[in-house]
Amino acid sequence: MPESKKILQTLKEYFGYDSFRPLQGEIINSVFAGNDNLVIMPTGGGKSICYQLPALLLPGVTLVISPLIALMKDQVDGLLANGIKAAFVNSSQDEKEQQEIYQQLLDKELKLLYVAPESLSFLDTILSQIKLSLIAIDEAHCISAWGHDFRPAYTQLGYLKNRFPDSPIIALTATADKATRQDICEQLNIPDAIRHLASFDRKNLGLEVRPGIKRIEQIIGFLKDKPNDSGIIYCLSRKATQMLAEKLQHQGFKAEAYHAGIPHDQRSKVQEGFVNDTVQIVCATIAFGMGIDKSNVRWVIHYNLPKNIEGYYQEIGRAGRDGLPSSTLLFHSYADVVQLQKFADMSGNKDVQLAKLDRMKQYAESLSCRRKILLSYFGELIEEDCGNCDVCKNPPTFIDGTIVAQKTLSTVTRLKEQEPIGIVIDVLRGAQNAAIYDKGYQSLKTYGIGSDIAWRDWQLYIIQLINQGYLEIAFHQNNKLKLTSLSKKVLFEKEKVSLANLKDIEKAKETTAKPAETIKTNSLFEQLRKLRLELAKEAGIPAYQIFNDATLKEMEQHRPMNDEEFMQISGVGNQKMQNYGYKFIKTIIDFSTEKTEKKKRKNKNKGNTHKETLLLYKEGLSIEEIAVERKLAQSTIFSHIMKLYQEGEDIDLNQFIDKEDINAIKKAKEKLENPEGLKPYFEYFEEAINYNTIKLALTILEKEKSNH
Ligand code: ADP
Ligand code: ZN
Repeated sequence: MPESKKILQTLKEYFGYDSFRPLQGEIINSVFAGNDNLVIMPTGGGKSICYQLPALLLPGVTLVISPLIALMKDQVDGLLANGIKAAFVNSSQDEKEQQEIYQQLLDKELKLLYVAPESLSFLDTILSQIKLSLIAIDEAHCISAWGHDFRPAYTQLGYLKNRFPDSPIIALTATADKATRQDICEQLNIPDAIRHLASFDRKNLGLEVRPGIKRIEQIIGFLKDKPNDSGIIYCLSRKATQMLAEKLQHQGFKAEAYHAGIPHDQRSKVQEGFVNDTVQIVCATIAFGMGIDKSNVRWVIHYNLPKNIEGYYQEIGRAGRDGLPSSTLLFHSYADVVQLQKFADMSGNKDVQLAKLDRMKQYAESLSCRRKILLSYFGELIEEDCGNCDVCKNPPTFIDGTIVAQKTLSTVTRLKEQEPIGIVIDVLRGAQNAAIYDKGYQSLKTYGIGSDIAWRDWQLYIIQLINQGYLEIAFHQNNKLKLTSLSKKVLFEKEKVSLANLKDIEKAKETTAKPAETIKTNSLFEQLRKLRLELAKEAGIPAYQIFNDATLKEMEQHRPMNDEEFMQISGVGNQKMQNYGYKFIKTIIDFSTEKTEKKKRKNKNKGNTHKETLLLYKEGLSIEEIAVERKLAQSTIFSHIMKLYQEGEDIDLNQFIDKEDINAIKKAKEKLENPEGLKPYFEYFEEAINYNTIKLALTILEKEKSNH
């Protein structure tokens, strides 16, 4: 077994990391010890290094079985970028390409070989001629019919252990359930495999649930502080993905829809754009995301409620694989619940599905730490509240909601349980609209008894009453609100109802809406990102394979300005240092000197603020741009320009004004017989020409006069 010093050295040299993530070290040692291993780690936990690093130090070749051709190419590209010799064989290649790879294998030029299970049988001859040091089976749950992703070709993999008894097997998956785990080991013939179960806690994922009302508005608000961050929005229907993508495009976002009904070519294009950061947002059905190894997905939104917690956790798990803070937002609506209940009814194992849906619903409605609920679902118990979910951040306080509940329930009674939530609120608030008058609801006894509470607040209260079981929505009957057995207790037995204080909910939204950090479009991080994108385009690989966001963030923070400092950054290995080090260091140095120059200039011009404006003007910036750059009002910059002009600086004022305006003001001047000041002009034009323009025109006219 290699020494641990050698192992850590290899980790830095090839992958650029200084230390292991939890369990990686143990797993790698166990591989070197010759054991078979089963690794269960959440998405983003860092499974790949568990076999890629041993592959480098073991004498022969590591065979990697991987289900998706797209993923394979991606992984191999990533390895090559790190200077690791790897290749894949699959049906997309012609015979010549495959022969070349076989030759490389025989010449001992490869450390890793990726294959799809379908191609394994063709490789038998060649595999018998080389030394197989290790066999890695990625996405190993595909072998089990218990898993959620069964692939028949995986079932053949059981023969590997008999065929290559001396090569240890490492099977890896993110599927936690016990039946599947057991099944994987049995089917692979590795009953004694050492099991490594990593924590499913992904602390960097913020968890948030909101009522599914005005979702589009909420999404646009959510995106305000994330104008460039990559994210995925999961929807239940294809139609919703398309509608959302269009709405977001109108708002100026680079958003695309992705679902199984879109032609294959177009889908690949969207996926590629997303991976390469040219598509920012993908609105997708659940088909999207499997097999995409993009580490800088900064947020995931569920437009609809997912059908179970496994799916939900896998989908939010696609955010923040690089370990940086990432946001997740789930919209909870009762229409979705009913839709999903229908799907469950139609499915083969209805009871299981409904039970799973129920757990999902409980999660969404929870008034205690959400992460606790999630992790307990995966059999992990945490003592402390997480501090990174909406409930922890803003624990609700409760108010006595008995009167609110009584008013609502008696209105529903008087409406004979025949109206949806909107009309119930209109009656409570005493609305004067056609819907009310047509049906004569203004004469109901409860009409207007809730006019002191805003419409939206009523909505949030009634949703809570539904959550607590005091009301039901009859989705099959136009969403009419219905009483339940609990309603009677409130109406006739004086049961007390407590409701979450809406002020807390509002406050929660404000705090979550606050940007995590203010976005500076001209920050060093943005410049490094730009450089990364250029390099990725040149090399024809995804941007994150150059460096991930976490690495760029560290560069921004530590500002390495020479090779040695640059090598200290996590994510920088030897190969990448050689390929990209110079360019990144140069960008950092340029950025830093530029900043100090600017500062110097600023200091020199202190108290001479219009001189600072002059410098920027001479750089070719417009008034608007100077105002942004200097964080001053446009009118201030304008007055600087005037002053500079009067001081004799070479400034062409004509560029700031229309000829027509000058002529109009010239005429006014004659008519008004040279009045004092600007106000007479302003009034003359009935405020249609602003003060700046008037001032400009007069200055120009003055100059013209003195030139004559
Ligand atoms: P998984 O296959 O479990 O979803 P990956 O192997 O793709 O996860 O790793 C997820 C991310 O974590 C990748 O960007 C990878 O480079 C990074 N990573 C893995 N191990 C480490 C480590 N020891 N230190 C820092 N980053 C790591
Ligand atoms: Zn929490």
